[in-house]
Amino acid sequence: MKINRNYLRLEDSYLFASIAQKVGEYKAAHPEKDVIRLGIGDVTLPLGAPVVEALGRAVKEMGEAETFRGYGDYEGYAFLRKAIVGYYGEKNVRVDESEVFVSEGAKSDIANILDLFDADNKVLIPDPVYPVYVDTNVMAGREILYMNGHEGNRFLPMPDADTQGDIIYICSPNNPTGAVYSKAQLKAWVDYANERGAVILFDAAYEAFVNDPELPTSIYQIEGAATCAVEICSFSKTAGFTGVRCGYTVVPHALIREGAELNSLWLRRQSTKFNGVSYITQRGAEAVFSQAGRQWVREAVGYYMENARIIADAMEELGVWYCGGKNSPYIWLKCPKAMSSWEYFDYLLNGVNVVGTPGEGFGKNGAGFFRLTAFGDVNQVKEAVRRIKEKN
Ligand code: PLP
Repeated sequence: MKINRNYLRLEDSYLFASIAQKVGEYKAAHPEKDVIRLGIGDVTLPLGAPVVEALGRAVKEMGEAETFRGYGDYEGYAFLRKAIVGYYGEKNVRVDESEVFVSEGAKSDIANILDLFDADNKVLIPDPVYPVYVDTNVMAGREILYMNGHEGNRFLPMPDADTQGDIIYICSPNNPTGAVYSKAQLKAWVDYANERGAVILFDAAYEAFVNDPELPTSIYQIEGAATCAVEICSFSKTAGFTGVRCGYTVVPHALIREGAELNSLWLRRQSTKFNGVSYITQRGAEAVFSQAGRQWVREAVGYYMENARIIADAMEELGVWYCGGKNSPYIWLKCPKAMSSWEYFDYLLNGVNVVGTPGEGFGKNGAGFFRLTAFGDVNQVKEAVRRIKEKN
């Protein structure tokens, strides 16, 4: 028996363990101090009433013989896929129900979609970015190339004559940088992928946070994307589903490689390895698209974006370089006074009792940068910002 040795090539992630340890030590030494966390990537608002009611109704249905449901469709119930197609319609994007696959969240689909691709493909991943893209490809033994995000390109790397990549990850709005590609920039990626015969995996987990109507919220708003892109979406940050677990992935029929529709391959993969998302969860997700659900999402996203505005305004006032925060719940800042990410972490923790996330955790280009998130309580955000400004 031989193990998958690629697992031994994975880098240990000490980031969140180190943060927890440092915060734990500080709190033990200073139990009277009120430490504010601006580093969390999880939502804090509870589920909205429309979702809770829908979940409750579905639970009741499952408890009655006439309405009980067993295994559902691998690709998701038609009622939810229809609602998702309607949502795309509002973005002026035509998606067919058979192109939508309901999942238990974006993370697993990001990993599972790799089943469709040969191990020999070159993978192109932005640095910095959500670390799951790198680790899932290391597990599969794929060669990883990086595209560099930096201050100069505002953390939005673009293809050039030297760019290579068969599987290209794009995360927009980006975690951790909050940077969002414009339509023209995405068009350049779509053209590149179509010319090369590459596939773009477009992670739209934060699409609901895009405020600016000029910015794309789906790659399918870009001409030509249907022949080169898979889009992966999530209810996690949009509707507080991090603990409920639901998302969806769009695989267009027009996306064909080596004569095979990726849609058919994905359906085959899902029907073999996946038994669907629970009926109860899917009814909850459907309610996200109801009128009341949409209103609630607007309010919840608005609440977080107010936090983002408060943090971003403080950065402006302090003259700190940052990106994100306007169309994303993440604020990505350059550590002041040329501090390293960990020096700035210590400075904030010890000096003002605020916790954020050092940029290195998201790739080597994150060194010297720092992520603050807008998912906290507004009063705590205000207090954290007051302290940061005062200490400055
Ligand atoms: N994609 C990005 C960019 C994320 O930041 C996250 C979670 O933080 C996910 C995907 C995972 O989302 P889900 O909760 O749907 O698995």
